[in-house]
Amino acid sequence: TWPVYGRINGPVVIIGFGSIGRGFLPLIRRHFALDQPQITVIEPSSENVGLMATYGVKHVKAALTRENFREILAPLLAPGGFCVNLSVDTSSLDIMRLAREMGSLYIDTVIEPWPGFYYDHKADPASRSNYALREELLTEKRANPGGPTAVSCSGANPGMVSWFVKQALLDVARDLNIEHDEPKTRREWAALMKATGVKGIHIAERDTQRARVAKQLDTFINTWSVEGFISEALQPAELGWGTHERWIPDHARTHDTGSGAAIFLLGPGADTRVRSWCPTPGPQLGYLVTHNEAISIADHFTVREEGEVVYRPTCHYAYHPSNDAVLSLHEMFGRAGKRQSKQHILSEEEIIAGRDELGVLLYGHAKNAYWYGSRLTIDEARENAPYQNATGMQVTSAVIAGMVWALEHPTAGIVEADEMDYHLCLRIQRPYLGTVEGIYTDWTPLTDRPGFFPEDIDESDPWQFRNVLVH
Ligand code: NAD
Repeated sequence: TWPVYGRINGPVVIIGFGSIGRGFLPLIRRHFALDQPQITVIEPSSENVGLMATYGVKHVKAALTRENFREILAPLLAPGGFCVNLSVDTSSLDIMRLAREMGSLYIDTVIEPWPGFYYDHKADPASRSNYALREELLTEKRANPGGPTAVSCSGANPGMVSWFVKQALLDVARDLNIEHDEPKTRREWAALMKATGVKGIHIAERDTQRARVAKQLDTFINTWSVEGFISEALQPAELGWGTHERWIPDHARTHDTGSGAAIFLLGPGADTRVRSWCPTPGPQLGYLVTHNEAISIADHFTVREEGEVVYRPTCHYAYHPSNDAVLSLHEMFGRAGKRQSKQHILSEEEIIAGRDELGVLLYGHAKNAYWYGSRLTIDEARENAPYQNATGMQVTSAVIAGMVWALEHPTAGIVEADEMDYHLCLRIQRPYLGTVEGIYTDWTPLTDRPGFFPEDIDESDPWQFRNVLVH
């Protein structure tokens, strides 16, 4: 007896039917009444036609391109309907624009570009950044306010973690006895973050899901899109850049235009290691893979006085993917970034144990650091819904949450996860997230350091990026 959250009064189109699309399909049926029960899936591969048939889906076997997307999509979209973009290699911005033009609601889990963007050897690193992709979205949002709602980046991260940040911030403010009402505006949220003394936020994740069979040579294994992971792995490392930072790496660069909330490093994110913390492993190394939320969260919690930035938290991803994915990255970087000839996503059937532990670590305040997030085991994921592992479950449930919000706010225009009602979104997601909890830790990036060798550290403030980055 799962709750039905709303009615979709028009056609539903899903773009892409990979690991996330498959898991999402049963959930849309479970949580929404559909005016037009036949869902259309646009997907170039026939791999999952059996599953599509089980759900009575109409399969349009095509890959959307810059040239054909209008012709294929426009006839399928209509007012009251929903366009759910779960594919790689399609421009989120172009498709979102078209959906809004047709009066359809829109949602995605990442800002994707058309092919060419990630692997253009002539492009400078700034133009291959998530900062650039987000700035394009913000330009579109400013130029066309209001109108049919298009939710940008409503997955687990980006997405859910922006909602976690707000809950975690309220917990920390409460535990520090900081008097406050729950913030209502972006400005009030940022002011509360500043008042709690949070210096920064890691999106701190540990994925321990594993299969019985070990990774073979020349194969990239992951628990979600291999294609998507390799693209972001090879983008420059990017992070929201906080006002408490006193040191900046030599290979860091800033942007000349836009919000100014983030910097990037002249090196690939998945080959850039940072020290972080998650409940199960405790201290761990993660990869500073670029992600939209590192920039949007830093931007949303920036405090300005008379135009000047007076406060911003540092914010970045610290991702320890599954062991097989770590080995896959190691192998790929050993070949100078040349990808393996085989790719594989571990399915819920192959995974024998493990969990995805995904949360936010708010650090640098008077109680040191607080991790708040979802600790979802593969068994819990399997119990709640078919066709997905723990990683997928955290994503697909966030898409459902974002859709409920959009149906309740159908003319909000283009929105980021940071602008949505986090109470509503987390309430909807919660049954799918396993254990959701907040845990304080006394660990800092200087714990047990230096070890055997001299290190370039700043002992006056453990939470400097200088201490976090492995350099
Ligand atoms: P996947 O690689 O398993 O599947 C992608 C699907 O898109 C494939 O089936 C592929 O055939 C299809 N596709 C490729 N090109 C297409 C085109 N031009 N037109 C239509 N379909 C096309 O990926 P996934 O794990 O299902 O992830 C889907 C998307 O969700 C990716 O963009 C990924 O980055 C994103 N994602 C976001 C989060 C998050 O937390 N925000 C988490 C996981 C995945």
